[in-house]
Amino acid sequence: MSVADWYAHKTLGDGIFWIQERFYQSFNRANIWLLRGTHQDVVIDTGLGLRSLPDYIDAQGLLGEDPQRKNPLLAVATHAHFDHSGGLHQFQQVGVHSAEVDALVNGDNFETVTWLSDREIIEPPAVQPTHILQEGTSHTLAQLTVLHMPGHSRGSICLHDRENKLLFTGDVVYDGAMIDWLPYSHVSDYISSCERLVGLVDSEQVDQVLPGHYNTFGAKRLHRIATGYISRAETCPAKFSTFAWKTLSGVALRAFNPRSAC
Ligand SMILES: [Zn+2]
Ligand SMILES: [Zn+2]
Repeated sequence: MSVADWYAHKTLGDGIFWIQERFYQSFNRANIWLLRGTHQDVVIDTGLGLRSLPDYIDAQGLLGEDPQRKNPLLAVATHAHFDHSGGLHQFQQVGVHSAEVDALVNGDNFETVTWLSDREIIEPPAVQPTHILQEGTSHTLAQLTVLHMPGHSRGSICLHDRENKLLFTGDVVYDGAMIDWLPYSHVSDYISSCERLVGLVDSEQVDQVLPGHYNTFGAKRLHRIATGYISRAETCPAKFSTFAWKTLSGVALRAFNPRSAC
């Protein structure tokens, strides 16, 4: 299957493109966002990495046809999970939050939740982040600012376009059940991140959410999802299901992955 068949995209206007892996029909299929900046273009999340995303972007002319006028392209992962970070190795410039750099550099199947064993991969694709992101990082990221929002994973970030009131949220929030039971998930961090999201809506800093999965949505829905999570997590502090899932997924992932088991 060619690269042109593997991916599909929609233009959202204002230099923003929504790219998806058409032939990965799964709730794990992550959205890939491409954003044209004045001096820097940014791709947010990279899918599984099974076909060349840079070739697709080039072939479709998404960043313009004139090679003289091309900006550098930085690939940023909202977090290190496999469905978002799989294609990072295809890019020269890679950004990820400092808390998850090691997982990418060392190929940690447990933290990236790949459900693969090392024996199944002959040569793991190497990723060497060139941009180590922290709360507040904004230079080199087009018009985006990094908001560190741990909870789903420890290095999860949202990317905020303040001027246009857009928020790229990765798996911190999307229009579906939020996952807080994976390795390095943390419920009380997740509550704090959701409180921050509510604050962004209340101070009218977000109009549109471009999430890591499923469709885009507006500020009201963001408010409802974030407050819904907070009240569920706070009224059910024992969170038996979270505990059970976390234990089960931890055991399963470690069993699959001999390197992280030791
Ligand atoms: Zn994730
Ligand atoms: Zn995801």
